[in-house]
Amino acid sequence: MSPARTTYDVVVAGGGHNGLVAATYLSRAGLAVLVLERLDHLGGAAVAAPSFPGHAARVSRHAQLASIPASVVADLGLDLDLLPRPEPAYPPLSPPSASYDAWREVWADAVDLAHVVEATVLEPLPLEREVRERLDPGLWRDFVTTPLATTLEQRIDDDLTRGLVGATALAGASFSLAEPSLRGNRSFLHHALGLARGGWRVPRGGMGAVTAALAASASDAGVEVVTGAGVSAVRGSDDAAEVTWHDGEQFHTVATRWVLADVAPWVLRILLGEGDDPETKPEGAQVKVDLLLDRLPDLASGDDPAAAFAGTLRLDSGLDAIEAAAAAAAAGEVPDAPPLEVHCPTLVDRSPLGAHAPDGQHLLSLLVQHVPVSLFTTDVVARQGLVVERALATLDRHLTAPLESCVARDADGQPCIEARLPHDVEAELGMPGGHPFHGDLDWPWAPNRALLDTPARQWGVASDVGSVLVCGAGARRGGGVTGIAGHNAAQAVLAAH
Ligand SMILES: Cc1cc2nc3c(=O)[nH]c(=O)nc-3n(C[C@H](O)[C@H](O)[C@H](O)COP(=O)(O)OP(=O)(O)OC[C@H]3O[C@@H](n4cnc5c(N)ncnc54)[C@H](O)[C@@H]3O)c2cc1C
Repeated sequence: MSPARTTYDVVVAGGGHNGLVAATYLSRAGLAVLVLERLDHLGGAAVAAPSFPGHAARVSRHAQLASIPASVVADLGLDLDLLPRPEPAYPPLSPPSASYDAWREVWADAVDLAHVVEATVLEPLPLEREVRERLDPGLWRDFVTTPLATTLEQRIDDDLTRGLVGATALAGASFSLAEPSLRGNRSFLHHALGLARGGWRVPRGGMGAVTAALAASASDAGVEVVTGAGVSAVRGSDDAAEVTWHDGEQFHTVATRWVLADVAPWVLRILLGEGDDPETKPEGAQVKVDLLLDRLPDLASGDDPAAAFAGTLRLDSGLDAIEAAAAAAAAGEVPDAPPLEVHCPTLVDRSPLGAHAPDGQHLLSLLVQHVPVSLFTTDVVARQGLVVERALATLDRHLTAPLESCVARDADGQPCIEARLPHDVEAELGMPGGHPFHGDLDWPWAPNRALLDTPARQWGVASDVGSVLVCGAGARRGGGVTGIAGHNAAQAVLAAH
């Protein structure tokens, strides 16, 4: 399909949720905006689709929970309902106990810190010292300058409770929470920011409803969208650019004042002509296993499964086990007991199951951590089988009967189980290494000495080329289904235009 014009104010490369947020803000402000999406549909990782033949259930294939600021939902007039979960997390802790109290205190402090930062994420970047001045020095020390594992060891006595907190920092990449690089702290803060924003919520209708609402809002605003358009080159200077794409039959090129990249920064560098650099390629480390169940399994503890699975159930994730899994992954092995996060979004909203789903049917997803893309360069099928087997074994240890007895069968009589490896995510979405955040997260503030001399730098969305901005997960304050990176890239364009 050809575009309507030869020149635009803004071309957005990639129609993920952030690309759509940016495009809609800018089109509403009167700019001519073209979105180019390589796939035949929009949404990137924020999509749902039927996965199991013979069943209507639509699986949120990648992301399941969203934390979009209420102001973005209101600004864009999104027809979207983000449902809170009854148990945001399900810790096997019981008050009163020292563990429970320590767990609550750590979270209360983390969320206090997150509230201060959260107030800045839709504004130009604060400097590090400006954030620090607004915080209790103890919070800064515990969550920003001390490796997360050390803080948890100092503040919580038992290993399992430390792990319940630490596991929230395992967001699809593999690293030790003791690392001096503080990657774990940045990831933990990202999670806490979502809590401060009102929580990580289940979109009514599944993740596809987020994209449907954004696409409708973009269309109302006059955004032009071309799907099946794989961008192959971006040439830019400080004040103009050209974007070339292929539609399966031929190349097209348009001129534009701004390019917004919803692709990962690592991919953007290739589009800008720098060649691919294996050294700096992001590495995702999460396998998602989706299952359709005829009924929820019974827990050996006797807890109500409807309560346990409605939040985020973390199993076998003591801090020692998490660190052992990180070490195994770093040594090139599938961990014996990879940390596991279990979600059942249909306990909050049954609509993704379809109108005629039998009572008791549910979608369950297992997020298996510390299984980096590098583990799957050989023996892919065998290693994928091993990961699924070990994840199910972890869950089974907590059930009265193996989960397999609850799994529905598809139209061909096969169990409804689907596993997606990091390189499947890369092949499907172009996320390098299957890294869910397009690369490791940055701190959500600017270093004290940062040169913030352009709106793009002030908003944390600059690339090396003046006319090209990052509007996706790889922006500072990007990552996750939040729309924040899209909002911020749009504000940077409006401030400069
Ligand atoms: C398995 C998994 C589970 C996750 N779970 C959660 C979760 O529960 N909650 C949460 O908040 N986050 C989650 N995430 C992370 C979250 O989904 C992403 O960070 C977020 O969706 C990124 O959105 P985006 O718009 O920035 O980029 P993307 O969603 O990556 O969109 C980029 C778009 O660009 C397109 N594209 C790529 N290359 C080109 C090209 N050359 N030309 C044109 N188009 C191109 C892609 O097809 C895609 O549509 C998860 C991610 C994964 C992979």
